[in-house]
Amino acid sequence: MLLEGKVAVVTGGTRGIGLAIVKSFLRHGASVTLCGSRKETVEKALATIEDFMPGAPVRGAHPDLTDEAEVRACLDETIGAFGHLDIMVNNAGISQSTPLLSYTAEEFQKVLDLNILAVFNGCQAAAKVFSEQGSGVILNTSSVVSLYGQAAGVGYPASKFAVNGMTKSLARELGPKGIRVNAVAPGVTATDMVAALPEEMIARVSAGIPLGRPGEPEEVANVFSFLASDKASYVTGCVVSVDGGAVI
Ligand code: NAD
Repeated sequence: MLLEGKVAVVTGGTRGIGLAIVKSFLRHGASVTLCGSRKETVEKALATIEDFMPGAPVRGAHPDLTDEAEVRACLDETIGAFGHLDIMVNNAGISQSTPLLSYTAEEFQKVLDLNILAVFNGCQAAAKVFSEQGSGVILNTSSVVSLYGQAAGVGYPASKFAVNGMTKSLARELGPKGIRVNAVAPGVTATDMVAALPEEMIARVSAGIPLGRPGEPEEVANVFSFLASDKASYVTGCVVSVDGGAVI
């Protein structure tokens, strides 16, 4: 199995792409802490996984990802439960499609807090652990909008450009310590986040997909599993598109 014996933390693991990553990691032999924003959604996700794989080595947590100490504690608790840590997935994110002239600074800041600051906290907390052990993998969830921008809701593409910048920079900073850092940039993927977007926006984006359909969360998760595994041992600093060939 690709991830036999590995231990991972996945933020935003309660649904959508994150839950698919958790399931894929478990299927490939990893032990996982899945993080969500609330205790109730974490428990619901754990129940889903119990149906999917009874007795799976998975636990839940709901740290405030914008609080560096809480993120560090979550990683320490994972190491306490599973013995070590090999993979950190910074996947939690929110999207907005508010036009610029109605955008408030508060809304903008909310996107940056989760989509950038929380990723920074996850990278830093994981890098502390990984530096000491001389190995580890950090995976960040970017987006196709980090390549093309987005017609409304500028905070979201701005945050994903920042994720790519952190990914490429940290790959250079942490590579000498044996730590790989990559990002996955999904295109339109069939999750709650996309269901919440205006239909017109989904149709416009889908029209530019050569494979002619939105992606499934499992198709994105497969790439995370590969990048998390030793099969990707010479891959770092990449933003890997999983978007059906979208050209927008
Ligand atoms: P989703 O809305 O289905 O799930 C979001 C996850 O983030 C949930 O697990 C939720 O608990 C968590 N989350 C939300 N707010 C949080 C908070 N304040 N604190 C902690 N956790 C919080 O979204 P998704 O579509 O699965 O998106 C996951 C990632 O993929 C995001 O980073 C998103 O930007 C990215 N992405 C999604 C698509 C898509 O089409 N669905 C495309 C490109 C990129």
